[in-house]
Amino acid sequence: MLPDQQFLRIPGPTPIPPSVQHAMNLPMIGHRDQETKDLLHSIKPKLKPVFGTNQEVLMIAGSGTAGLESAVVNAVQPGDEVLVIVTGAFGDRFAQICTEHQIATHRYDVKWGEAAEPEEIEKYLKSHPHIKAVFATLCETSTGVLNPVKELARVIRQHSDALFIVDGVSGVSGADVKMDEWEIDILITGSQKAMMLPPGLTFAAVSERAWKVIENNSRPSFYFDLAKYRDQLDNDSTPFTPALSLLFGLNQVLELMEQEGLEAVYSRHRQMMNMTRAAFKALDIPLLTSDESASPTVTAIKPDDFDPDALRKVLKKEFNLTVAGGQKHLKGSIFRIGHMGYCSPADILQTIGIIEVALNKIGKPAELGSGTRAAQEIMLSGGS
Ligand SMILES: *Cc1c(COP(=O)(O)O)cnc(C)c1O
Repeated sequence: MLPDQQFLRIPGPTPIPPSVQHAMNLPMIGHRDQETKDLLHSIKPKLKPVFGTNQEVLMIAGSGTAGLESAVVNAVQPGDEVLVIVTGAFGDRFAQICTEHQIATHRYDVKWGEAAEPEEIEKYLKSHPHIKAVFATLCETSTGVLNPVKELARVIRQHSDALFIVDGVSGVSGADVKMDEWEIDILITGSQKAMMLPPGLTFAAVSERAWKVIENNSRPSFYFDLAKYRDQLDNDSTPFTPALSLLFGLNQVLELMEQEGLEAVYSRHRQMMNMTRAAFKALDIPLLTSDESASPTVTAIKPDDFDPDALRKVLKKEFNLTVAGGQKHLKGSIFRIGHMGYCSPADILQTIGIIEVALNKIGKPAELGSGTRAAQEIMLSGGS
């Protein structure tokens, strides 16, 4: 094993492209100098298509959770009624943030591993007419579910005046999402997932409708006041010192996405999902989610005859391959493979090949090459 060679296949942080790593090594510049204005000016238009919006995408120094909290404190007020659709650990986090801010929080809990059903949300909204905002997760990273955000947006818009606020942290730039067309009101993401950057930057795009609500709210946060970020960004600036190195990297990430083409980015992610799922089906090892609700960025596997943590231990110790375990009540019963950002179908072949070896090492008989072969067949047919 090479001491400095790592195979990082967790759902964030994810590997960084060499050209992005290089860009982040540039010397510091003055954050109020023209160079920073030029940098923001170059980033702004390139971010919009990634969110599927014509709105400016705001950038805040902080992890993804900072973005979630900023959406909550700006869009709703203490005492407001909101609905949080909880399909796993990150939906749960959204609910906790709301509760923490004295918001009257209704939860709609879905069994972990399943996606939210728009008809159920429609029923809920009809019987709860005072809901001011609905919160949902695009990709529920803890289970590998991609929620039907487009359909959720449609029922919310048809049956209520609520804002629709989406945690897109492990989804945006790996899964196709069209904020304006689908009528999402606030869409959040973070830097360390499909955005191919280190942790430390969060992004928020806000609809016209949501700005109207935000402008009428008293915003009880100094740092997370989104209007400050919007007003400054209009002048190619930021209210506070930006995470400059991450912005250098972001500019290069957006170049790479433009070169590859966003449609190609999305189909690469779908292909990696299909390869991963086909491999475990061929190995006869159960997946946590159905094909219909599977996320293109992360796959959860729920073995019934071996300990996933024993597998993870061997993968890490003998091959320096890191995959994630389960969160909360799924701890010890699943493992998760991240396939997002700077990750290609070739990386998936390698990951599956290593896992087949490690399975045999922990005493789980797995036919060498059977999973790899299934993944190769998808790759050969271009299945995405
Ligand atoms: C990673 C992640 C977050 C944010 O986590 P941070 O640790 O604060 O960056 C939020 N939501 C989802 C769906 C995530 O995958």
